[in-house]
Amino acid sequence: MAHYCVLCGTELESRIIEGREMEGCPNDDFILWRDPKVASAVVVEADGGVVLGRRAIEPGYGLWCLPGGFVNDDEHPADAAIRECLEEISAAVELTSLLGVYHVPKQDAPSMIGIAYRARLADGAEPKAGSEMLEVRVFPLDSLPPLAFPSHRYVIDQLLTSRAPLAVASHLPAATAAPSGMPPSPAQAQSRPRRTR
Ligand SMILES: [Zn+2]
Repeated sequence: MAHYCVLCGTELESRIIEGREMEGCPNDDFILWRDPKVASAVVVEADGGVVLGRRAIEPGYGLWCLPGGFVNDDEHPADAAIRECLEEISAAVELTSLLGVYHVPKQDAPSMIGIAYRARLADGAEPKAGSEMLEVRVFPLDSLPPLAFPSHRYVIDQLLTSRAPLAVASHLPAATAAPSGMPPSPAQAQSRPRRTR
């Protein structure tokens, strides 16, 4: 599929940048960078279990998931985690630790960097379904329902096996990689003429 420069509208051409084949504008310095999307996920511990929501939207309609979602550009991932809990399980939470960082490779959409937090409910908070959830419940860790996203299963498994902060994983095990999970981004192309690493 052809892509076009967001600065001047010219069709982009293939070029090699930093050893990788990219698309760039022949007229100016626009490069179509292929960056991962960043998402947060939160293990909210309550009553000896974890809070899950049953999804009222695709992908994964009717299946259960951790609260979480994409991090906005102007947002710290921890703030995104807290916001998503307010939106999805209607509850204020206090993050208690960073559980881990993981990579979800994808072929047909931007890959994802997941940032998982552990949290507890704020005093007096009672989880209930937000607009994107059919219901919200606390599940014991040894009897979880089918989850919408393999990455969320991975996060909970890591919590179960360690009960300690996760090692930073470079990627998910192949068997749990690449959920059909997340919606394609409406804004995959980003103008970023200069970039330092
Ligand atoms: Zn251009």
